[in-house]
Formats: sequence, structure tokens, C-alpha cells
Amino acid sequence: PLNCGIVGLPNVGKSTIFNALTSAKAQAANYPFCTIDPNTGVVTVPDERLTKISELIQPKSLVPTTMEFIDIAGLVEGASKGEGLGNQFLGHIRATDAICHVVRCFDDPEVVHVAGGVNPLHDIDIINTELLLADLDTVEKRNTKVEKLAKNTSDHKIKTEASAMHKLLAVLNAGKPARTADLTDEERIIARELFLITSKPQLYVANVDESGLIKGNAYTADVEKRAAEEGAQVVRICGAMEAEIAQLEPAERDEFLKDMGLSEPGLNRLIHSAYRLLDLITYFTAGVQEVRAWTIKRGTKAPGAAGVIHSDFEKGFIKADCYASDDLFTYGSEQAVKEKGLLRSEGKEYVVKDGDILFFKFNV
Ligand code: GDP
Repeated sequence: PLNCGIVGLPNVGKSTIFNALTSAKAQAANYPFCTIDPNTGVVTVPDERLTKISELIQPKSLVPTTMEFIDIAGLVEGASKGEGLGNQFLGHIRATDAICHVVRCFDDPEVVHVAGGVNPLHDIDIINTELLLADLDTVEKRNTKVEKLAKNTSDHKIKTEASAMHKLLAVLNAGKPARTADLTDEERIIARELFLITSKPQLYVANVDESGLIKGNAYTADVEKRAAEEGAQVVRICGAMEAEIAQLEPAERDEFLKDMGLSEPGLNRLIHSAYRLLDLITYFTAGVQEVRAWTIKRGTKAPGAAGVIHSDFEKGFIKADCYASDDLFTYGSEQAVKEKGLLRSEGKEYVVKDGDILFFKFNV
């Protein structure tokens, strides 16, 4: 499954947020929640549509979809030069699909700030610089090899790679992330093999105290301004409060949120933002045995979506019966959706939409 790495300076609240995300109580009670290792957690993706479908279909079981978060601790200034356990941590980040960058936006004299004082923009610069330097190192090494090869060949792939490396070097040397490089599709495919950190999508998590949660504060204003310049999202969260919420029983939790004037835990917003960042959407299978949510990359065609359930479904794909969950909510039953002519039969080229309910027909 696709995953999101949680990065940031020490003591900004990464582990607090990660632990709240992966705490047993925060997870749907009927999902076999698991922690793969201490730093990797499987998180169920909250989805009201799944609950609404289940209310209408009354299945024996209900299974949400999941995504993974990885707590990547230990990134410090100098990591790209091997400071601390720098290289090892950068390796972990390289293996993720997207990055949640946690920034400290709360004052607390009890919590030491590694860089002297709370200053989100300074913190962001330290982390982003380390990530950028790590990429610069990767690209420089590759470039040296490819330049040599390119001199003595007319091989198209090598020429393309050389031009990709030049473009990447130019943006990285200008202090800009690799994702801003203007690569052709071909160059992009080759560049992907380098697993550059700054080519991954990134969002900021502004970790605030309770008073800053709804209105924000001077720190979050800085982060939001920076994020807007980069075209990145910001999720405002109070790590300490999320840790408390995650320990509550569902009824207590709803009461607590109501008292705070909140409609849902901040973690739900974070999970949804990370899901969007990864460019993921959800489709459903819905039968009396089981109603279940499945994750696919936006743009996936019907056979690929079937393949998420089982590779045999993809190989033997014939067609998919399909309707929108919104139509189910409007008309109240599958039968009614059918009578309205809204149940379609879709073939191999159908691009699955977020919220579709699908029934696959396949050869075995
Ligand atoms: P990490 O090093 O980034 O993983 O940071 P931790 O999650 O270990 O948090 C460092 C310290 O900050 C701990 O003592 C936390 O209790 C505290 N902390 C985390 N989130 C918040 C918050 O929202 N408000 C306050 N006041 N303290 C927090």
C-alpha cells in the first residue's frame, strides 16, 4: 500500500501524532488493526459513505480501507552530511510515497526546541534544505556517470537521462525542490528511478496548542503563507489533544469534540489530506455479506481496480456493473437505482470514479 512518511525536527510532535493515528482506539473497532513495526502504522481511512451504504444494505461485515504512516524520527541539521544517523533516515524517507512535514507551532517552555526557539519558517528551511542536499548528492553522482556515457553514445535513453539530470541539477542548485523541474514525460519516468525525496508530494502539519486550533496563531500564519507559495496544503492539528481523543471511547469522543466545537478529530482531516496528497480515491463493493472500501490511484481503469481485490479478477475481467454511491443515497436502494436506469455496465476502458459501487464479472 502507498504510505506517507512523517518528518520534522526532533520535539515537534511527530511521535505524538503518529501514536494517536495508530492507537487502537482511534481505529474502527471491527478492523484487524495492526502495527507492522514500531514506526509503521496501518490507519483506517474514515469514510461516512461506507457507514451510509452499510445502513442501506445491512451487510454482515463492514471493512474500511487503509493507508500507512511511517514515523521517521531523527532528521536533524546536517543529516545529508551523515550527521546523527542522517543517511539511514534519509533512506527511510526515500522509500515513502509522500511526506507529511510536521512543524512546531506551539509554545511550551517544558518542551525543548532543538534550534533554540519556536520559529516554523526556520524549522521548515532546515528540514527542506537537508532533503534538498540529499537529492543534490544523488543527482550529482548520477549526472557524473551519465555525462560520461552520453559523450560516447547516441543512445536515446542515455541522452534523455542526461538532459533530465541537467534540469534537476539546475532546480536543486537554485534551492528549489525536484518536483518543480520541468521534465518531459520520458525524463520523468527515468528520474523516478532515483527516488528523489523532493519530488514526492508534501504537506505541512502545523502542530498547535488548543488555543491555536480553530483560529490559528502567528506561527501557523507563517506556515500557511509559505505553503501557499509552494502550492502545498497545511493541516492544523493539536497533537497533544489528538493523543487524548484517541484514548476515548466513541461516545465520549463525540461529546468531547462537540464541547470543543469540532465536527471531527484533526486526525481525520490529516488522513484525508494525506490520501488526497497520494492522489488516492475510494470505490466500494457492496453485498449482503460484506460492504467494503478499496483504495486505488486516481485514473485507474476498471480491471486495475478489480486487481486490488485479487489478481485473478484483473486477469479474467469481463465487465463491471457500476453505480454511484450518491445515487444510492438519493434513491435508497439498489433496486431503485436500477429502475432509474443509473446502474451501468462498464468495460475495460472505464476509469473508476471516487465513490463508485462496483460488481465485477470475471472469468476464472
Ligand atoms: P517528536 O520528537 O517530533 O516525535 O516529538 P514528540 O511527539 O516526542 O513530542 C515532543 C514533546 O512535545 C513531548 O513532550 C510532547 O508531549 C510534546 N507535544 C507534542 N505535541 C504537543 C502539543 O500539541 N502541545 C504541547 N504543548 N506539547 C506537545
